[in-house]
Amino acid sequence: MQRTRIKELLQSTAYGSTVCVKGWVRTRRGSKSVNFIALNDGSTIHNVQVVADTDKFDAELLKLVTTGACLSVEGTLVESQGSGQNVEVQATHIEVLGTCGADYPMQKKGQSFEYMRQHAHMRLRTNTFGAVFRIRHNMAMAIHQYFHEHGFYYFHTPIITASDCEGAGQMFQVTTQNLYNLEKTDDGKINYANDFFGKATSLTVSGQLEGELGATALGAIYTFGPTFRAENSNTPRHLAEFWMIEPEMAFYDIHDNMDLAEEFIKYCVRWALEHCADDLVFLNKMVDKTLLERLHSVVENDFVRLTYTEGIEILEAAVKQGHKFEFPVHWGIDLASEHERYLVEEHFKKPVILTGYPKEIKAFYMKMNEDGKTVRAMDVLFPQIGEIIGGSEREADYDKLLARIQELDIPMKDMWWYLDTRRWGSCPHSGFGLGFERLILFVTGMQNIRDVIPFPRTPKNAEF
Ligand code: ATP
Ligand code: MN
Repeated sequence: MQRTRIKELLQSTAYGSTVCVKGWVRTRRGSKSVNFIALNDGSTIHNVQVVADTDKFDAELLKLVTTGACLSVEGTLVESQGSGQNVEVQATHIEVLGTCGADYPMQKKGQSFEYMRQHAHMRLRTNTFGAVFRIRHNMAMAIHQYFHEHGFYYFHTPIITASDCEGAGQMFQVTTQNLYNLEKTDDGKINYANDFFGKATSLTVSGQLEGELGATALGAIYTFGPTFRAENSNTPRHLAEFWMIEPEMAFYDIHDNMDLAEEFIKYCVRWALEHCADDLVFLNKMVDKTLLERLHSVVENDFVRLTYTEGIEILEAAVKQGHKFEFPVHWGIDLASEHERYLVEEHFKKPVILTGYPKEIKAFYMKMNEDGKTVRAMDVLFPQIGEIIGGSEREADYDKLLARIQELDIPMKDMWWYLDTRRWGSCPHSGFGLGFERLILFVTGMQNIRDVIPFPRTPKNAEF
């Protein structure tokens, strides 16, 4: 008999009809005469209640109905009185597809997220992680939908790259050489000539440079793919492997770029409110009681826009008034998360877009402002998260870009193709990068980035 997903079953009013549901047991309780089994199949946060009259079933079979076991149930759909749902299933036939012993690590309720990380292969079956990963899927759909509706093309940039000049972070090397017997050149360096690509290669830290090639041909593109950073940042906001969305647009200046970032992120949050209501209500209750309020607030309010210099002034004033930061504040610093969060959470109580950063702390490709000191960078700062987006208007002038490349000693052998965009038909253009997991952190109210990607990769951790 055809299985009905629990999500659809719970909407049904076909009382009296025979149905089949399959899923994993969340709980079983009951009396001598009747058992109540809460069954979940991952299609929704909600369980369906299966009612089993004990005189209709073999006692040995019912003993196998333990938390975590997998069942196939046939029965009659009936109107429910006590299950919290409209319907329940009066079981006529129960088959145990997979038993589950007491050593099942997700047996107990209320385990810490830290504990569940040790069992990340099984945590997916819990209510919280089910909710998080259904929302993660929905956010991916929202992103594609937004860009598709707005005339952006999904553009695939390479994961293996030979340019190590992006400067966004330490890179993981890619090689097929025998690491026990590395070929060296006469001057003692590693000889990549016989390596797979004939040169040193790594995993990409960003698709931006290739994205610019796409934007200056197709008009507007976005990437959405994995990125890798080998920096040893053991924080709740950094992964070694994360997913990034990078739109890149011809003919956009920094203001258009900010408008896009704000509209886009609001679209995603609104999508979550519309499409993930049940999961959000659950997370709001169990994980973070201010989640829904925060999501609505982001959708309903304009983001604050100010310059880095103004931001520093606010932070300096806070220090004067006695606010203690771990790291010192003065013009020129790269803002720490505590500074970003002060601006967003304490001062403005709204998302903030900071622009006009000192050129020294930003990448070489950003367009210089008239002052010669700051660049047209923009970081979008979010409550609870800090930086969620980093972007800029790109330097479109060949001579200025080349001068900056030389000033920073970036190897030209890697950059010739990038500079060609400025040689032939250069145009003003802009783009940004949104960390997908940081968006999921925001939308779910989870605290640790390791808990919003199914199988996190962090320093000293590549299990599963
Ligand atoms: P941060 O200062 O937080 O380390 P960044 O300035 O190095 O970030 P960018 O190079 O600007 O990051 O990358 C664009 C976006 O990618 C960031 O705004 C952030 O949302 C996300 N991101 C960057 N590094 C990581 C990481 N290690 N793990 C998860 N997301 C990241
Ligand atoms: Mn950044």
